[in-house]
Amino acid sequence: MKKVAFKTLGCRLNLFETDALASEFARRNYEVVEFGRPADVVVINTCTVTNQSDQKSRKVINQAARKNKNALTIITGCMATHYKEKLQQNEKIDYVVDNEHKTSVLSVVEAHFRGDTVNPDNFEKNVFDFEPADDTFHTRSFIKIQDGCNNFCTFCIVPKVRGRAVSRPAEDIFENIRKVIGFSYKEIVLTGVNLGRYRYEKYDFEKLVETTLAIPGDFRVRISSIEPDGYSESFFRLFQNPKLTPHMHICLQSGSEDILLKMRRIYTAGEFEEVARKLRNDYPGFNLTTDIIVGFPGETEEDFQKTLEVARRIGFGHIHTFKYSVREGTRAARMPDQIPEKIKTARSDTVRKLAGEMKLEYRKSFIGKKQTVLVETFDRKGFAKGYGEHYVPVIIEQKGLEKNKFYGVSIIGIIPGKEPLLKGDLL
Ligand code: SF4
Repeated sequence: MKKVAFKTLGCRLNLFETDALASEFARRNYEVVEFGRPADVVVINTCTVTNQSDQKSRKVINQAARKNKNALTIITGCMATHYKEKLQQNEKIDYVVDNEHKTSVLSVVEAHFRGDTVNPDNFEKNVFDFEPADDTFHTRSFIKIQDGCNNFCTFCIVPKVRGRAVSRPAEDIFENIRKVIGFSYKEIVLTGVNLGRYRYEKYDFEKLVETTLAIPGDFRVRISSIEPDGYSESFFRLFQNPKLTPHMHICLQSGSEDILLKMRRIYTAGEFEEVARKLRNDYPGFNLTTDIIVGFPGETEEDFQKTLEVARRIGFGHIHTFKYSVREGTRAARMPDQIPEKIKTARSDTVRKLAGEMKLEYRKSFIGKKQTVLVETFDRKGFAKGYGEHYVPVIIEQKGLEKNKFYGVSIIGIIPGKEPLLKGDLL
């Protein structure tokens, strides 16, 4: 039995794709082992969205080469697409499989072990042909519904490495969901590059989610990161259905209208705030989380203060902060007034501090309220940990609970820290 190890960097789409690949290898009798353990094959699913992602991807490639010298090393994902030729010259890497050929990783490996001459680019191109994963690295099942993006935000390399927007046929998505529910998954995470742009025959994103919620079974649906455009207000009525978790990660990026224009985002900060106001009004306690980029070319102190003001007014449950990083091949890379690294770091520290304060406040607001927790892990004492429907982490200080089961709890307190943890008592 050959052994295969996986490492995933970057977004949820990569997580979905790694899960699907690992499942496919397992079905073909490979033993999936932890990354870093001796393996015959190592697959690294990379990211290239920022300089930091590139650095992390490179570090992991070097790590794999050190720990698993004799393994067949496959690099796939966005970095494999972006720096294909460079990576092909790296002697630590056996095959570079770009995003369009990622579904062929197993075929590449098998052809290699048969002794064939292998060129991954000669395999079939298909971004959706992943089998439903029955045994993944997570309790949640990520379902890919869409790939690519046509927005061309001026800072973003994703349209170049993931290609133009394409939507997976709706029936395939429903079939995938029915299968993973059959495998006993209790949480489905719809994922893609730009979910709101989903279009397939009579289905837009709203109709797709509505139809997903109507699939029978004891499960809940979470929407992963989404852009603020591409769905109408009527979409929000779907949150009345308890199967749809009251949480959205909507990417704000900046609170300054000028910077949003330069970023070529297709909404205003005012419109974003209006969406937030509506969601919180209709669904008190709704968890809104976001991404913010600091140090975009030309961002003045005043622009930055506007971002902080918008963030404070909205009160995000979590902010993922990125320091703007130059991506060759994007319009922002050629813009004047690039911001010095020192200022970017100071701004990102400020956002991080504010984000930490807001997160604590948000989580405290659950004390005395109820959550339905899906148990994912156990701590050393055997106490169960998981996430409530609002995507807040909860510990239930009781032994003997089961993984992958829902438990109704009443929130009785909070353990502060970088990731404040709520304490729940079984109802
Ligand atoms: Fe990149 Fe998102 Fe903009 Fe598309 S919408 S270009 S994925 S930031």
